[in-house]
Amino acid sequence: MSLKIHVLPAGPIETNAYLLIDAPRAEAVLIDAPGEVWADVAPLLAAAKCRLVELWLTHGHWDHMQGAAEVVAATGARVSAHPDDRILLETPGVMEVFLPSTIRLAPVKTDRWLADGDRFDALGRAWEARHVPGHCPGSLLFWCEGEGAAFCGDAIFQGGVGRTDFPGGSMARLEKSIRERIYTLPAATALYPGHGDATTVAAERAGNPFVSG
Ligand SMILES: [Zn+2]
Ligand SMILES: [Zn+2]
Repeated sequence: MSLKIHVLPAGPIETNAYLLIDAPRAEAVLIDAPGEVWADVAPLLAAAKCRLVELWLTHGHWDHMQGAAEVVAATGARVSAHPDDRILLETPGVMEVFLPSTIRLAPVKTDRWLADGDRFDALGRAWEARHVPGHCPGSLLFWCEGEGAAFCGDAIFQGGVGRTDFPGGSMARLEKSIRERIYTLPAATALYPGHGDATTVAAERAGNPFVSG
């Protein structure tokens, strides 16, 4: 039975969280935690009678981690991220200076630091983490070959790429990440980005105006 993927845009700038539910296993994984996403996740878990076992963060930017502490407090989910974003996740106050004063960020503790090429099992499926820096130093992509799906954070979007003008950003690094770690995925792989609609590796390789295939 295939994985149920819920797309949950949440937070002040419509950041996509993805809730992956395997009902027969009664388990779920959440990818990214925008502000107040728990209000959307909790009823879906309850309806599917599933437990949230993991929270995977594609990167440490505030709009992807603002709701993380609340999710972890409610579920005890194990948190995975890339060590290059450790400062953002553990001392997120460094990002508050760029934000309206109404936005407060709580730190989140990471239980497992992932490196490029790490393979692991979740929801009874094989996954691979790929390090795709450029938009953010610790940007990660989570790929499930069996599902033909990759969750790519803000590295690439349908017809676009992530901004590189934030601290630690680099267009040269992003281009390299996209060419070597995203365009090398199987062509039919669905790409689920941190903002906007899903796309595919084939579509971006053929038509992305910022990084040619
Ligand atoms: Zn970002
Ligand atoms: Zn974002």
